[in-house]
Amino acid sequence: MREDLVIRGAHVLDPSSGLDGPTDVRLVAGRVAEIGDGLRGTRHLDADGLHLFPGFVDVHAHWRTPGREDEETIETGSAAAAAGGFTSVVMMPNTDPIVDKPVVVSGLVRRIEKESRVRAHVSAALHEGLKGERLTEMRLLKEAGAFCVSDDGLGTQSAGVLRNGMLYAKTAGLPVILHCEDHTLATGVVHEGAAAALAGLPGSPGSAEDAATATALVLAAETGAKVHITHVSTALSAALVGFFRDRADVTADITPHHLTLTDELVGTLDGTYRVNPPLRPRDDGIGVVEALRDGILDFVATDHAPHASEEKELPLEEAAPGFLGHETAFAALYTEIVLKNRLLLPRLVEAMASAPGSWIGGAGSISVGAPADLVLVDLSEEWTVRAEAIVSRSGNSPYLGWSLKGRIAGTTVGGELIHDGMGARFGARI
Ligand SMILES: [Zn+2]
Ligand SMILES: [Zn+2]
Repeated sequence: MREDLVIRGAHVLDPSSGLDGPTDVRLVAGRVAEIGDGLRGTRHLDADGLHLFPGFVDVHAHWRTPGREDEETIETGSAAAAAGGFTSVVMMPNTDPIVDKPVVVSGLVRRIEKESRVRAHVSAALHEGLKGERLTEMRLLKEAGAFCVSDDGLGTQSAGVLRNGMLYAKTAGLPVILHCEDHTLATGVVHEGAAAALAGLPGSPGSAEDAATATALVLAAETGAKVHITHVSTALSAALVGFFRDRADVTADITPHHLTLTDELVGTLDGTYRVNPPLRPRDDGIGVVEALRDGILDFVATDHAPHASEEKELPLEEAAPGFLGHETAFAALYTEIVLKNRLLLPRLVEAMASAPGSWIGGAGSISVGAPADLVLVDLSEEWTVRAEAIVSRSGNSPYLGWSLKGRIAGTTVGGELIHDGMGARFGARI
């Protein structure tokens, strides 16, 4: 940023620093320099009527690079993230090649520097080939720039192997992100329950997630490893996380889709609605919203999972699992959870910005000296999710056609406007 910039008059809401009211924020050299009324600067941006939050942080995204750049690239994935108000993202390693060698990590780190609009971190694999057998060389992966390790997409089937992985990750100083799934139980394509029975689809019981989550939590408590359980989708798994909160170095996230959609959608037999973990019944949805509200689940992560249309426009049983997540996360949660009085707005901002920001370290706060990673939101604007307006290279959003409230008006990383949702209003001034 060449000159300073004052964002004037936005309602600044940051639960981590206690800000909640209209004021000005001055940005200098990529950082927040001053917060207060009547600030002056060389450039200004009139943000009356908008909300200013810390930039959102997404610890779970699939940008399909390397290998499936037809579905997403670092450029399009980071543009989609910016359009959704995200300023930091963690990229999952189930790519082609898999991110299980230092040379793949360092290659990605170099590409991120050139191609990403947002700050992006690389998750390397926990096991070679994500196979849950041989551990990766975590120390070397860390030296090459890996931020954490994960076999996302697959659960580790052997508790002994997982325990060794946690111990090694702990000595290497890397957090572990776990996709908890017992594949001997998860033999179906949707949640096993009334909706699956009505649709005639093979189901996987909730225990496929719960049993694996329980195992992971017990091992986390014993090893002392820093473990993050991603996409918790059942009420029981959330309760298990709560039980272990003070017994292990554990955190957990929940996706926007598990907070807003239920397995009734599988009755359409539309491949769009296949996702892993599967959409759950209403009672689980209620349980995970309450767990997020109460801080038992720490934060939101999208599991942004782009797929080419030929992988999704299929009968549900044959479709690839996964949804786009970045661009609709805030509006879906604001519309479906906050406006329906099930979660307060400050808790949503904490769950999308402050809490994941503190998990990755040094992000998710509007305070003097903090990076100027910010998102401006128009909470009053209603918009419709349209395929032609999607920024991601893929189109597999489960919210297509939905009317959502809360539009991302602008996103800054290091004080630079990397997404302009307001067109002329901002363009003329920045
Ligand atoms: Zn997963
Ligand atoms: Zn994933």
